[in-house]
Amino acid sequence: MKICIDAGHGGKDSGARYNDDTYEAFECDLNLDIAEELAWQLSGTKHTILMTRKTDRTLSLTTRAEYANRNNAEIFVSIHCNAAADPDVEGIEVYHFPGSHKGNTLANHVYNKMVTTFPDHKHRGVKEANFTVLRKTLMPAVLIECEFLTNPVQLQFLLNGKNQLLIAKSIKAGIDNHLSKKCKIIILNGSIKIYGSYNEAERELGIVPKVLSRIYANNILPYKIKKGKFKGCVVLKVADGVKKP
Ligand SMILES: [Zn+2]
Repeated sequence: MKICIDAGHGGKDSGARYNDDTYEAFECDLNLDIAEELAWQLSGTKHTILMTRKTDRTLSLTTRAEYANRNNAEIFVSIHCNAAADPDVEGIEVYHFPGSHKGNTLANHVYNKMVTTFPDHKHRGVKEANFTVLRKTLMPAVLIECEFLTNPVQLQFLLNGKNQLLIAKSIKAGIDNHLSKKCKIIILNGSIKIYGSYNEAERELGIVPKVLSRIYANNILPYKIKKGKFKGCVVLKVADGVKKP
């Protein structure tokens, strides 16, 4: 499995910032610390790890998504730390693209592991957002807001290397849980091939409209699966007259 890890911001875009008389911290640095820890945690596994950046450099949101698409990443994980004008605001939240079933599944697996790892933190939930890196990536994608760096207590939490390790481990555990589901969906030459049992496919099938809507713009594609009859491989034909944009 190819997993693309995206450390949010970097270079000219430092992201959110904490600043008081004695201390200054930038989101881009924390994101990279956690992203590198996650890459390290995943490096000893069978997965191939891609990173949009390994240094403090400027990257557009589209460049990040295109990098993952071009390298056929199968999962995209964007690491961020949150910010709010009110320094009391805190908590963990995980985003996926609106209507993305598989993104939602991945987001829930990651979120569940994070909130059980950090039960004392505020749990802000799994949310939908039309973020560029979620919209432009062709694979299931999540954006994780690990905590609020504008909250002085949570900033100390985020700066702590042990916590960064725990965050990375919880994200990895969430990805592992997500990947333990056995169903494969392949889209090729106008057909969708789905391998797996019906129940697994049903759970995963939400990805199909999303992926197709990305490939074929706004056309609605007819596809049918009869419950209980599908086993092994099902090929769904893409409707005639539907053209790639
Ligand atoms: Zn950010």
